[in-house]
Amino acid sequence: HRATPDILSLRGIVLSFGGVRAIDGLDLEVRPGQIHGLIGPNGSGKTTTLNVISGYYRPETGSMMLGGHTLAAGRTTDRAAHGIARTFQTPRLIGEASVLENVMIGGTIEGRATFLEALLSLPRHRREERVMEQRARLALAAVGLDGVTEVRADRLQHSELRFMEIARALMQRPAFLLLDEPAAGLSAEEIRRLAALIRAVSAGGTGVLLVEHHADLIFDICDHVTVLNLGRILAAGTPGEIRVHKEVVSAYLGA
Ligand code: ADP
Repeated sequence: HRATPDILSLRGIVLSFGGVRAIDGLDLEVRPGQIHGLIGPNGSGKTTTLNVISGYYRPETGSMMLGGHTLAAGRTTDRAAHGIARTFQTPRLIGEASVLENVMIGGTIEGRATFLEALLSLPRHRREERVMEQRARLALAAVGLDGVTEVRADRLQHSELRFMEIARALMQRPAFLLLDEPAAGLSAEEIRRLAALIRAVSAGGTGVLLVEHHADLIFDICDHVTVLNLGRILAAGTPGEIRVHKEVVSAYLGA
């Protein structure tokens, strides 16, 4: 398909596991500065979509583009160069390393095949290390974790680990940020902080693709919402449109 500068776009993505079509002809666009919510019942293809964008899976058909460049399917290694960062449903950490070190890994992890490889390739040059440390400290301050930079990561609470994951992604100064259920396990107050953080990130021009079960958060902060069901788009529109969409309400929101 034709490239539109600076927009992350997926066209006609199909991906099956065994006989199951996890994604069945998906078109999706995320614009700079947009908060795009991706919702749907369990098994509807949300995480698989993030994994396709991140290059973990190679779709059978379809294409992905960003700013006029084709994103290679099934390759994670060029995502950092394209400015795409993500978080995972289960925070990834090195328990015995400090919070700061865990975030500094974000400067290299997306360009590496594995977490271990990223760890091994932490900068060996002091100047580079100072720059990365500075960026990591800024990212930690942005997520409200500047008070625990030297604490071992395995001492953090679940909610702090979720924010640490986001700091690691922000450390890359991404053009696009993919968030996989960032509100899972957070308190109402922590979700309010998360909402403010995501708004601030998008206000800085970063496009956010937000996979989330927490409907209130989605409707509160998203500019655009795509609802998946069985790997296909059931509905797409503004939060106001999705809230009252008949099929969405009966199939998913259960009201
Ligand atoms: P969601 O994130 O919306 O809950 P997923 O993207 O995880 O949905 O899953 C979509 C479909 O693909 C489901 O039917 C799921 O069972 C299947 N699936 C996802 N990942 C795998 C995998 N690694 N192997 C086999 N099937 C998978």
